[in-house]
Amino acid sequence: PVVIDLCDIGKSYQMADETFYALRELSLQIRQNEYVAIIGPSGSGKSTLLNVLGCLDMPSQGHYQLAGHKVAELDETQLAILRNHQVGFIFQSFNLLPRMTALQNVMQPLVYRLMPWREREAKAKAALAKVGLSDKAGHLPNQLSGGQRQRVAIARALVTEPAILLGDEPTGNLDSKTTSDIMQLFDDLHAQGHTIILVTHEQDIADHCQRVIRLIDGKLAADSRNSPHPDKL
Ligand code: ADP
Ligand code: ADP
Repeated sequence: PVVIDLCDIGKSYQMADETFYALRELSLQIRQNEYVAIIGPSGSGKSTLLNVLGCLDMPSQGHYQLAGHKVAELDETQLAILRNHQVGFIFQSFNLLPRMTALQNVMQPLVYRLMPWREREAKAKAALAKVGLSDKAGHLPNQLSGGQRQRVAIARALVTEPAILLGDEPTGNLDSKTTSDIMQLFDDLHAQGHTIILVTHEQDIADHCQRVIRLIDGKLAADSRNSPHPDKL
């Protein structure tokens, strides 16, 4: 099934007396279990697109459906619910809460769910196990390496079982060995059926994904598929 359906999307900003388009005439479908890189020069609209996909930002033109939900028809509360249920965000700088343990960080997205604390904890533990960090559940972020912190952030993104995982330069702060470990984790998650969309400026990572979407000046400049068996980094 199609999880992301963008039809003629534009995102414009009013700058003094001019209208500036960060995205324009963008149509795109992404199906369940795709593994996609979004690339393009700085300022080409990659972050804007990721924010639209994650419902952090609303398009100014066009139609967006996420997991069958017409985003434009939702109010703020419904959008917050849609984001919480369908989107897992992973950031370059991890964005963990420093005074909370790995387990507490991973439980965060479940805070507003009507479920017993025990169930939240069990889901968070399962997510930490999925990223190979069961033994670090009680550690604070500053007791973990960069790669381990990003694993915690990935577990936090997974804990709600979202339709899509969105990474904004998720290996941007990691060394090359740790980058290849994290990409191996994304590969494993992809093999388990997750839909993964990564913004990157690293050609190696783009080559590693199955599909590469290139933006230039807010427009879709290329949409191509890599060979079916991407090389290990
Ligand atoms: P990228 O992630 O590819 O570097 P962005 O999506 O961050 O590109 O930005 C695309 C363009 O939109 C840039 O020219 C940027 O300055 C502009 N832009 C982004 N957000 C805003 C905003 N809130 N107001 C005005 N212009 C913006
Ligand atoms: P799933 O795909 O895991 O079933 P959904 O988001 O479709 O997740 O539904 C989970 C629950 O969240 C539903 O019971 C629904 O009431 C609520 N929900 C999901 N999206 C919205 C939304 N956009 N507006 C209001 N409630 C929503």
